[in-house]
Amino acid sequence: MPHSHRLLHRAAPFIVLLLLFAIVGWSTSGVSTASGKVLERQVLELAPPIDISAPTDEDNSTDRSFDHIVASGETLSTIFDDYHLGQTVLYAILSADEELLALDTLRPGTRLHFVLDKQDQRLEQLDLHLHPGRTVHYRRTPSGIFEFEDEISPTIWYQRIVSGPIRGSFYLSALRAGLDKADIVAIQKILQDKINFNRDVRADDRFEVVMGIEMSDEGATGNIRVEGVRLLLRNRVVSAFMHKDGNYYDPNGESLLRAFLRYPTQRHYRISSPFNPNRHHPVTGRRAPHNGTDFATPSGTPVMATGEGVVTRVRNHPYAGKYIEIKHTGQYKTRYLHLSRILVRKGQHVERGQRIALSGNTGRTTGPHLHYELHINNRPVNAMTADIPTATHIPKAEMASFKQRMEVLRTVMISTEAHLATSRESNQEKDS
Ligand SMILES: [Zn+2]
Repeated sequence: MPHSHRLLHRAAPFIVLLLLFAIVGWSTSGVSTASGKVLERQVLELAPPIDISAPTDEDNSTDRSFDHIVASGETLSTIFDDYHLGQTVLYAILSADEELLALDTLRPGTRLHFVLDKQDQRLEQLDLHLHPGRTVHYRRTPSGIFEFEDEISPTIWYQRIVSGPIRGSFYLSALRAGLDKADIVAIQKILQDKINFNRDVRADDRFEVVMGIEMSDEGATGNIRVEGVRLLLRNRVVSAFMHKDGNYYDPNGESLLRAFLRYPTQRHYRISSPFNPNRHHPVTGRRAPHNGTDFATPSGTPVMATGEGVVTRVRNHPYAGKYIEIKHTGQYKTRYLHLSRILVRKGQHVERGQRIALSGNTGRTTGPHLHYELHINNRPVNAMTADIPTATHIPKAEMASFKQRMEVLRTVMISTEAHLATSRESNQEKDS
């Protein structure tokens, strides 16, 4: 199968406050600061659509380009129809997107940038601006196929504290304090084996949550996560902290998330193609990452959710075939491609080990198989070797870094407790 893309991680120089870089050096996608800086979520700043009839390039001999802002209800297919770009080109682009599936669900407000050949109006390039700090370029190659370049800027995780007294339920109190519903549900899941939120929480107990907000040099990426949580109850303190593996642990390093399955099938089938971020295309020689693990499953093999979660995508893609995406508690996401039958709905809650589909041979395949992907912190990783919550305790060798990290989050929580209203100012004074 022709894979035709390459991956590029731009490493633009970046001047940041490296206050705690050494302490939180485990974060592969960025660093956090414990400055307690309050950063509001930023809405994508969108350029206004440019009229298709008006070439943006002054030089008449060059290609012309235009932007399109995705409206509600639009798909890549309807957009290509509107601009008369042609089905052949659409499929060439979708082919290049098979290993990313970034174009398969377009969010309203997302900006697409098209570059057309001046002479024959042929599409030469499509840029998908997913969020500040991440753009995927799909470019036509001399051989006529498209290849992608996933341009990811370095990011930093900033911390924002959300805290307050509990009045009524924890859920409503956290909602009042400004936490998202999804984050509150996640916190309740993380602490579900430690506390009964109906029975154990009383008026005037307190909660403190450290939220991570991902920032690139172009603004907030829109990615946020719970980094630490502490409930100060009348007779005890219950807390959870995120480790570099995307899992949450109590102060002793005991896992708080339920274990994942390593394999998405009952039987362990032969791996016909392993995860390989550096796979090279046999013809073009270009880098063509394989973001999943292929198992040689006969069609009709029951496929299981490897962890508890919520189904976020049920799609049929011309190259990925029928596929499912599941968002799990913690920083995990899984995908299951080339299915023959899907047994779940979008939005459905699934348990670990639940049968979600039957494997198949849909999309572009050379034979029946199951392509299984695991993403941690929005990056594909090798599902066969990655750190997943299979163990119940942080490995001994990682305990020191976990404890350091936990102390940083605790310090942030304590300092915020005392100086909630003036944290920004006091931090600036402290630094200068
Ligand atoms: Zn595959």
